[in-house]
Amino acid sequence: MKIFEVFYYCNSQYECRQQLIWQYQAWPDEVKPPVCRKCNNCVNRIANKLKLLDGKEEIIKLLEVVEYLTERNEQICPDDIVDVFRGGKTAKIKQKNWDTLPVYPTEKRKILKTKELAQFALTDLVVRGLVQEKIILRKQFENGSLSSSIVIIGVVPGAQASANMQMWYYYVK
Ligand SMILES: [Zn+2]
Repeated sequence: MKIFEVFYYCNSQYECRQQLIWQYQAWPDEVKPPVCRKCNNCVNRIANKLKLLDGKEEIIKLLEVVEYLTERNEQICPDDIVDVFRGGKTAKIKQKNWDTLPVYPTEKRKILKTKELAQFALTDLVVRGLVQEKIILRKQFENGSLSSSIVIIGVVPGAQASANMQMWYYYVK
C-alpha cells in the first residue's frame, strides 16, 4: 500500500473498512461488496446515525484553498489548508492575514464541518490524485532521530474539472 492510502484508511471514521480495502485492490468493473456492519467504522456509523451527503461543492472550495495557498506560500501543511477552509482563527491565520483572503469562508461549512472530516476530504483529494503532497524527513542534528512533516505541493492541472465529474459523498452527523 502507498503511504497516502494508509493515511486515508487510518483517518476514515465511518467508511466500511472492508470496502476501503476492496476499493484499493478492485478491478475497474468489479461490483462493490455491501458494508460489513461489523468493523469499527461500520459500528461507529450505525451508532451515530449519520447521513451520507454530497460534498462536491465544498470539495471544489477545498481545492480553491489548496490552489490559492500553495501558489503564494512555501511549506503549506495540511493543517493550514484545513484551518483556512474551515474559517479557523488560529494564531498563524491571524499573523499571515489569511482571514482576509478571498478563499477564506464567510460562513461555516455545512458538510465538511469538523476538522476530522475536512482532513479526511483532503486526504481523499490526495488519494484520487487531484492534490499532491510530499513527506519531508528531517534528521535531528543532536540525537540523529527522524521527524517527518507533510507539505502540500498543490493541485494538479484540471483538478476542478476532474473533481466535478466524480462523486464526493461523506458521512455527516
Ligand atoms: Zn464495515
